Amino acid sequence: MADFNKLLGKLEILSAAARYDASCASSGSRRSHGDGGGSGLPAGVCHSWSADGRCISLLKVLYSNRCRYDCAYCVNRRSTDGPRASFTPSEIAELTVNFYRRNYIEGLFLSSGVFSTPDGTMEELVEAVRLLREEHRFNGYIHLKLIPGADPRLVEQAGRHADRVSVNIELPTAASLRQLAPDKSREAVLAPMRTVDELIVAAAGERQSSPRSPRFAPAGQSTQLIVGATPENDCEILTLSEALYRRMHLRRVYYSAYVPVGSDNRLPALPVPPLQREHRLYQADWLLRYYGFAVTELLDESTPQLDAHLDPKAAWALRHPEQFPVEVNRADYETLLRVPGLGVRSARRILRARRSGALHGDDLARLGVVMKRARWFLTAGGRYLGERLPAAAGTLRDCLLAGYPQSAARPDQQQLALFSGLPATVCGEL
Ligand code: SF4
Repeated sequence: MADFNKLLGKLEILSAAARYDASCASSGSRRSHGDGGGSGLPAGVCHSWSADGRCISLLKVLYSNRCRYDCAYCVNRRSTDGPRASFTPSEIAELTVNFYRRNYIEGLFLSSGVFSTPDGTMEELVEAVRLLREEHRFNGYIHLKLIPGADPRLVEQAGRHADRVSVNIELPTAASLRQLAPDKSREAVLAPMRTVDELIVAAAGERQSSPRSPRFAPAGQSTQLIVGATPENDCEILTLSEALYRRMHLRRVYYSAYVPVGSDNRLPALPVPPLQREHRLYQADWLLRYYGFAVTELLDESTPQLDAHLDPKAAWALRHPEQFPVEVNRADYETLLRVPGLGVRSARRILRARRSGALHGDDLARLGVVMKRARWFLTAGGRYLGERLPAAAGTLRDCLLAGYPQSAARPDQQQLALFSGLPATVCGEL
């Protein structure tokens, strides 16, 4: 028990040290079932998604918060004070199995400071997950961080044991990396990502011809970018993400609003972390991955930042009135997905429902389509579905920002001309 209490002491330090890594979907969960049901740990538990799409709770912890590097944005950097601790491979394996058997967690998210050489650090991380898999027969989910600069042989071993692996790029450009994380190089970060991508492709090919051949990181790889610590704009950040999705087949890029953790004069003095910007980047990222958008459609040199007030799809639609309104009875799936307010589920329901006959405006609400935003961009059977607006309502952007309409139209209201070349009176005739 004394040893276990010692482990819990380390856990307190190392789970707190891991909380700034956003590349696990959430962190710091507090779940409690006072009646004795399976409870979550009060600290160090995050949620993620497994390869088959299940939401799972993970023990999120650093192997060590000792680090030789001095990345300016990091709470664990060499030059900070504060308690330091390290596990051994057998300690982290035993702790994980212990919590797993108690039903606290369904897996492990393990990262680490670079406490020795990149290979020396990676070797200990690999040993920890090897012990879990081979000695403890641990069948839970493992997300393992790769250390920039680690040998490809160790990267391969990591991916044989882990479900997901990741290397944090952290900063979008080599110049920013040089400035804030001078011990790391862009190549040292990208090299393991390339290795992982090649090994995932190779393993998938082998399993097609031989289904029993070993798996390699079946939940893919991800990375994290810090937002707001350096001057890169949203266009540069999303262009990098798009390249990572297309060329290295990353499953996820996580965006982490910069949280000021020190007084280093290389860092901006932000009054609060840019959480709204982080939120917009996630929305735009979603459009890249699931809605068929390219970064160049959302942003360019003249508009390098996402609209702080409007979601990226609505902002795109307002810049492209020539694409609207869209006729629900004729538009293909990809076009429907571009209508603000329509998501994957709504677009599929529309396609399915119209096989049985032409759709009218009322049918869409019955299908569960949320019309509040979509109505401004749709026709059904030639009839425009937008509301009549009071003259004081201003532009469509104003209406979307205000969440209009909030009530039924009144007789003194007039039609707003929304789309170029379509006088207000004609919109209703389309
Ligand atoms: S390598 Fe940099 S970001 Fe990672 S723990 Fe060390 S100081 Fe922090």
